[in-house]
Amino acid sequence: MRTPLIVGNWKMHGTLGEARALATALRDGLKRPGRVEVAVCPPYTALAAVGEILAGSPIALGAQNCHHAPSGPHTGEIAPPMLVELGCRFVICGHSERRRELGETDEQIRLKVAAALGHDLTPILCVGETGDERRQGLTFTTVEGQLRAGLAGLEPAALGRCVLAYEPVWAIGTGLNATPAQAAEVHGYLRGLLSEVSSKETAQSMRILYGGSVKGDNADVLLAEHEIDGALVGGASLAAPGFIAIVRKAARGAASRGE
Ligand code: PEP
Repeated sequence: MRTPLIVGNWKMHGTLGEARALATALRDGLKRPGRVEVAVCPPYTALAAVGEILAGSPIALGAQNCHHAPSGPHTGEIAPPMLVELGCRFVICGHSERRRELGETDEQIRLKVAAALGHDLTPILCVGETGDERRQGLTFTTVEGQLRAGLAGLEPAALGRCVLAYEPVWAIGTGLNATPAQAAEVHGYLRGLLSEVSSKETAQSMRILYGGSVKGDNADVLLAEHEIDGALVGGASLAAPGFIAIVRKAARGAASRGE
């Protein structure tokens, strides 16, 4: 039912030359990705160049962040219409690295999600607990608070256009992924919450990605979980063969389930 979505988050990696080479390798290696949607989120400095390389390919362009205002005196920020102008279709909102390093608040993230939707960008709202929160039994409390705050006030139709990413903070960049069962448990909980804040039908149609040390060799077991609708991939999206392997596994999984 839900087409899997695989998103590469290149974070703060890559010169323009490196970004061009990676985008070219992905475009050439993923001419027909199959039953899977694919997007990459390069650093701002490479968006235009990567967008030109990927134009006409099945790989969509996304950004790693945006400001909520359409323009204004916000030094160093990038507005949603600027991303749209460069061909972006997705924008990551509330990544844990920004929550932690820059103190991004739930309220700021809510504004970004609403602004993205207002400019026809698909927001990828990230939620996830820290290791301490998991040990203290606060996983569900944390992700529930982040989900409710990030999606607050949206009309049901707008809400249904969002993508959610469950990214346990302890799994990001650590090489320690959540087990498929751990991830599926939280995804199921999140889908139940989506039903509450929208409708059962909307919740069933929305994609919930898993992120946290996804690689070619763990992608298939994670993506085999019915509740996991794709992946947000950091480190393993920086080399074309590894990212392509993840996309292929997602496509094979979807084809075998008849999606
Ligand atoms: C991320 O950046 O969202 C991420 C999940 O990173 P990694 O795959 O490197 O853990």
